[in-house]
Amino acid sequence: MKYRIIGISAAAVLMVLTAVLLKLDSANPKNRIHQHLTARQPDAGCDCDGSELCTHLPLVIIDTEGQEIPGEDTHIDDKYGEAIYTVAEDGRSVIDANISIIDNQDRNNHPSDTAAVETISEIRLRGHSSRHFDKGQYLLNFVDENGDGRQLEVMGMSAHSDWALYGPYLDKSLVRNYMWYNISGELMEWAPNVRYCELILDGEYRGL
Ligand SMILES: [Zn+2]
Ligand SMILES: [Zn+2]
Repeated sequence: MKYRIIGISAAAVLMVLTAVLLKLDSANPKNRIHQHLTARQPDAGCDCDGSELCTHLPLVIIDTEGQEIPGEDTHIDDKYGEAIYTVAEDGRSVIDANISIIDNQDRNNHPSDTAAVETISEIRLRGHSSRHFDKGQYLLNFVDENGDGRQLEVMGMSAHSDWALYGPYLDKSLVRNYMWYNISGELMEWAPNVRYCELILDGEYRGL
């Protein structure tokens, strides 16, 4: 019961906050994209034959070519008490993987569709306790053939080379980060931008 009351009052606070922000927002030309309102909706339908994954959300496809993604917790601490994470075979903390992002504007997204973004990217696990979850979180750094940072626009977000793939695991509502980044984005221009997407990692569907 206690939890429910806390939940309800938290929701009330949020609604108030949102209402206030929306009001301020009409005077704010730097409004952020609210994907859940303006992007393709789940009931938009699709003309595909249903033979492969079909989603209204952008699709991120990562191919490591069989390499292990570094950054697993080894459960060994270094002499300063910091956790030691696994590294790639060549000793780097990242591996290079191929990434493609399917983000059709007028149709649902399918793994075999033409990608809006295709690049090499460095990748490793990110987070702290989340490194123990079944659903990994990943840090990406887009690079060119020379290993230099490559800034690319992703899902309508301005061009950057560094991206985080945050897979909600403990947050069963799946909206916490999305909501807070969007709310803080209306207060502070430098708050990270955020989009929902689905992930396929080495041929395996990994969810939202
Ligand atoms: Zn489809
Ligand atoms: Zn551990």
